[in-house]
Amino acid sequence: MKHFTIFGNPVEHSKSPQMHNAGFSYINFDGIYDKSQLEDGTTIKQVFLDNHLQGANITVPHKEFAFSNADEVRGLALKIGAVNTYINENGKVIAYNTDAPGFMKAIEEFQNITPIKKAIILGAGGTAKAIAVAFKEAGIETTILNRSENRLEFFKELGCKTSTWDDFSCRSYDLVVNSTSAGLKDDSYPTPLTILEEILKNSKYAIDCIYGKVTPFLTKAKEFNIPCKDGEDMLLYQGVLAFELFTDTRADKSLVSAMREALRKE
Ligand code: NDP
Repeated sequence: MKHFTIFGNPVEHSKSPQMHNAGFSYINFDGIYDKSQLEDGTTIKQVFLDNHLQGANITVPHKEFAFSNADEVRGLALKIGAVNTYINENGKVIAYNTDAPGFMKAIEEFQNITPIKKAIILGAGGTAKAIAVAFKEAGIETTILNRSENRLEFFKELGCKTSTWDDFSCRSYDLVVNSTSAGLKDDSYPTPLTILEEILKNSKYAIDCIYGKVTPFLTKAKEFNIPCKDGEDMLLYQGVLAFELFTDTRADKSLVSAMREALRKE
């Protein structure tokens, strides 16, 4: 039986095991996926190999350690500088980032109606980095708006427009993304309300990376009658893409539905 895990700290809340185990049974794959609380991210490759893992996902706060520890990094992860997936290829640790393509898959339903050409990302953390690199690859003109200045350098170098709340001047956008943690454990907006309302007035679609709740950001987007969604599809598709790497299969619609159903279970 092949063994998979998710490394994180904390990791107790993770729904990845239920999603992947449902996928394994759906395709009769002989695998088991569990959770691994990891305190020291610098040990991640050794722990992965010592436990004879075939694959793993990596979540907060270890994605950057996982990037620098891997034997080889492939794809967009090279530009993002963080990975969420490890594969054991004959004893070598190969690393990928499926957050970025997973996010692009999550916004396909908007893209199918109106091509997304201009986007604004609220927040400048790890998630914003993955999304901004995916946008860059897709030729989407991107603005980053963050409450503080210190994390903007990466995005400037990538070629994004950047600003803080103090020097922001609103334009029109096809998509606004909330990648801040505002609304995750509190009821705050990702920007001061006047700025958020101006952005929503000038945006066609909205997506929150937070999943499983209607955040103040999503409530506002609904008030402005903007088609919007939470981060469930983003979580699902990063998982589906990792699953394809783990099992070397292509996920069809029915497998994706089985994984989604498992994700929704309490
Ligand atoms: P980081 O800690 O790396 O970045 C957090 C960002 O949010 C920073 O830019 C920070 O600003 C900003 N921020 C935090 N609190 C507030 C606030 N009250 N008001 C305004 N800005 C704030 O987090 P991640 O990028 O890893 O995660 C961001 C969000 O995305 C989380 O809510 C997480 O749950 C969600 N997520 C969802 C995933 C999914 O699959 N659906 C996957 C990964 C993450 P500053 O720089 O000023 O501190």
